[in-house]
Amino acid sequence: MPIHLDGATGEGGGQILRTGLALSLCTGRPLQITRIRAGRAKPGLMRQHLACVLAAQAISDATVTGATLGSQDLHVTPGPVRAGDHDFAVGTAGSCLLVLQTVLPPLMLADAPSRLRLQGGTHNPMAPPFHFLERCFAPLVRRTGVGLSLTLRRMGFYPAGGGEVEALIEPAIDGPQPFDLMERGAPIEAFAEAVSPGLPRSVSQRELAALARLLGWESEQLRELPCRQNEGPGNALMATLVHEHSTDLLIQLGERGQSAEAVASALARAVRAAQADEGAVGEHLADQWALPLALAVLNTGRAARYSVGTLTEHTRTNFGVIAQALPVCFDVVKTPSRHEVTVRPNDIAPA
Ligand code: AMP
Repeated sequence: MPIHLDGATGEGGGQILRTGLALSLCTGRPLQITRIRAGRAKPGLMRQHLACVLAAQAISDATVTGATLGSQDLHVTPGPVRAGDHDFAVGTAGSCLLVLQTVLPPLMLADAPSRLRLQGGTHNPMAPPFHFLERCFAPLVRRTGVGLSLTLRRMGFYPAGGGEVEALIEPAIDGPQPFDLMERGAPIEAFAEAVSPGLPRSVSQRELAALARLLGWESEQLRELPCRQNEGPGNALMATLVHEHSTDLLIQLGERGQSAEAVASALARAVRAAQADEGAVGEHLADQWALPLALAVLNTGRAARYSVGTLTEHTRTNFGVIAQALPVCFDVVKTPSRHEVTVRPNDIAPA
């Protein structure tokens, strides 16, 4: 039975496409999406979305129609998922990590390990930056028993791109195992990193100094990341908040015409909000964790829970798409300080 998705429902972004592709490959069911990104300024498939479609096609020998720039209708009939070595290049500065987000779920359920070389942007607006996936997302995946190791070979920023990431995925012998993540636990460390390849070093230095002033952080908490050859131009200021059970990473990308101090002050606001948050995971991790956890829940038939401060429209849309294709339910309970999400097989009654 095909999975039919309306690409304009809910938040209506590229996530419906990526989650839809992942679900199609995980279940072997054909996927039909209409009205892809219909409400966006540039509707339909953009280069970075097309890269996700082509990657899904490459690992499953899928028959695909509608895989052209600007297309709003896509039909994918996947074959069996092929683990192994794969190279995926976005071809522009579009995020190569969104390609990883598309192919990881089917590859983590495959019968053999995979090694992926992903090329494109690594630190993009509206996409998970490399450091976020490495520090926040990958540790949760590893707790399910799936091996996931990520290496940054080269950073890639808009508009030059040129970034490269290697991902090693090792499926768990008995499939992914679910677990509860209701509290982030005690704070362990907090630090900031700045990187500005192709720009004067003073950009990173000023950003770190301004952030330290705003947050009262000490010099040991500030790190200037080294740049490799051929990286940039680009600029990112990141703050990592490590807790006992989960890590959050906030990022602010610098832009031409924006001062280093403005970049720092935007990041400081995000850090303060994250520190005050009472969820075990931040809003982006809540979104990205939904599909791997749903797959682990289905693998074992055991429900699992997590908590998040802010449940975005993006996350709710993702829950809806997943529940349309997999026999799982996302039950959300709102408490005064956060949202508590239970993912359960839909033949088990709510607790
Ligand atoms: P979409 O806007 O539908 O293409 O989806 C964007 C994806 O990028 C979602 O999975 C978000 O969770 C993720 N994302 C966007 N911004 C960040 C960020 N600052 N940190 C981590 N993930 C992000």
